[in-house]
Amino acid sequence: MKIIQVSVDVFSYPTRRSVDSAGHSHPGAESRANMGLLRIVTEDGNEGYAFGLPELMRPHLMDAFVRKVLVGQNAFDRERIWQALAHWQRGSAGQLTDRSLSLVEQALWDWAGRKLRMPVYKLLGGYRDKVRAYGSTMCGDELAGGLATPEDYGRFAEKLVARGYKGIKLHTWMPPVSFAPDPKMDVKACAAVREAVGPDIALMLDGYHWYNRSDALYIGQQIQKLGFAWFEEPMMEESAESYAWLAENLTIPVLGPESLGGKYHSRAAWVGSRSCDILRAGVAGVGGITPCMKVAHLAESFGLDCEVHGNGAANLAVVGAIRNCSWYERGLLHPFLEYDDVPAYLNSIADPMDADGYVHLPQRPGLGEDINFDYIEAHTLSRH
Ligand code: MG
Repeated sequence: MKIIQVSVDVFSYPTRRSVDSAGHSHPGAESRANMGLLRIVTEDGNEGYAFGLPELMRPHLMDAFVRKVLVGQNAFDRERIWQALAHWQRGSAGQLTDRSLSLVEQALWDWAGRKLRMPVYKLLGGYRDKVRAYGSTMCGDELAGGLATPEDYGRFAEKLVARGYKGIKLHTWMPPVSFAPDPKMDVKACAAVREAVGPDIALMLDGYHWYNRSDALYIGQQIQKLGFAWFEEPMMEESAESYAWLAENLTIPVLGPESLGGKYHSRAAWVGSRSCDILRAGVAGVGGITPCMKVAHLAESFGLDCEVHGNGAANLAVVGAIRNCSWYERGLLHPFLEYDDVPAYLNSIADPMDADGYVHLPQRPGLGEDINFDYIEAHTLSRH
């Protein structure tokens, strides 16, 4: 089934999120943001889609690499197409990133699901039809009544439990917050949440990512006492040695790597150096759904779980198709924002959660996104 066209629609939509100088999102005044819709069309008229930042599918990338690899190829040959793009990354002088690869590969999976009228997680090999979600908070802030104090985290955690969440992950304070980073404040927030929700809710911590070994060990020892389920990315992931040292010195599971490049190769190295107790990969970070599945299977081979990073339809599809994870990451959440609100460019959200804290895998063909094409058409800024 030959690919005849690859195109990108850039459109705008309203958002109440703003991004700080470290790239972390927080609640903000309503503004408009831009989004890209990648579209792959085959000779039979079937289409596949992926949403992403317009910069990840900018015209030069599409012309210089993506169309050259895709057009004329069989859209079912995902692995060959992906390998060709991955091999071009080195020679692209850093322009063709794992995130761009991931969007192309997601659109190919979405295309296949739509073509075969199957949800992608069933094509991958369905393992479950629903999964528990943990509520993943935004990073701490200095907004009154937001996530400015340990007590704010405690109060928000109570609301999340009332909504149905059986797990909560804290992202604590990071610069540019004036008092961050502060290991003692991180521990206070964790203690406030444990106090608020009691012993039966799973809790995880994902704090500042640039602590030194001493601070990471201190925080790990404290949240170990609080019965936390895992400790995520407290140090730079480029230092696998530091994580091996931390994992050796803690009983709480250390989870990673999340933001480290290197796809499944770097994850294999972390398993080899015993740098984590639970492996980590997300579809965007490792270059697509298939490489994310490779990481999950690598973990399974070593008797490890692989918790999938990030929300959205593609990560949910992976969670639905592997045995060795326990959670879907739902968020990011904040007391001022309503996660269940449907973005203007969709007709419904891809990850609805029931009152018992389960997200049900979408059953529509493809990745499961219920796209509002009329909205996108009416708000398109450019097409290439
Ligand atoms: Mg994380």
